[in-house]
Amino acid sequence: MVAKIDIIPGQRFNKLVIISEVEPKFYGKHLKRQVNCKCDCGNEKVIDFQTIRRGLTTSCGCIRSELIRNNNLSKGMNLTNESVGLLKYIEEAGIYKTKRKIKCQCACGNFVIMSADDFINLKVKSCGCYKKILGKESILRAATFRRQNQRG
Ligand SMILES: [Zn+2]
Ligand SMILES: [Zn+2]
Repeated sequence: MVAKIDIIPGQRFNKLVIISEVEPKFYGKHLKRQVNCKCDCGNEKVIDFQTIRRGLTTSCGCIRSELIRNNNLSKGMNLTNESVGLLKYIEEAGIYKTKRKIKCQCACGNFVIMSADDFINLKVKSCGCYKKILGKESILRAATFRRQNQRG
């Protein structure tokens, strides 16, 4: 039995705005109303209407990464000797807008300041050179850099 609740296009639930109702779907024995939503991040996704109405689903899925960002996952984490991709942690670079920033050195020699959370979430893996100059030399340097920094 499908509950008779009006689904109003344009109605907002957290980060989701309803575009239209689409074909209902069976979950086990239950037919559930589905809505096509637009998330604040720009994604469109078909979601079970009940879960957004009850606040169980608040975004297209992007909110998870946002939560990680906002929770400052890296808080208190010791990053000494850590490296991600071509980047190696060098030192703390202070806090900007509650976000922990760190200074890293890229295998190419560049220094970059980035969010510690991005670093531990493996979001940033080079100073940006990786895509641009993916030449033999940078790969060799990266390999050497990694070897030098490997522990255990
Ligand atoms: Zn989203
Ligand atoms: Zn680089």
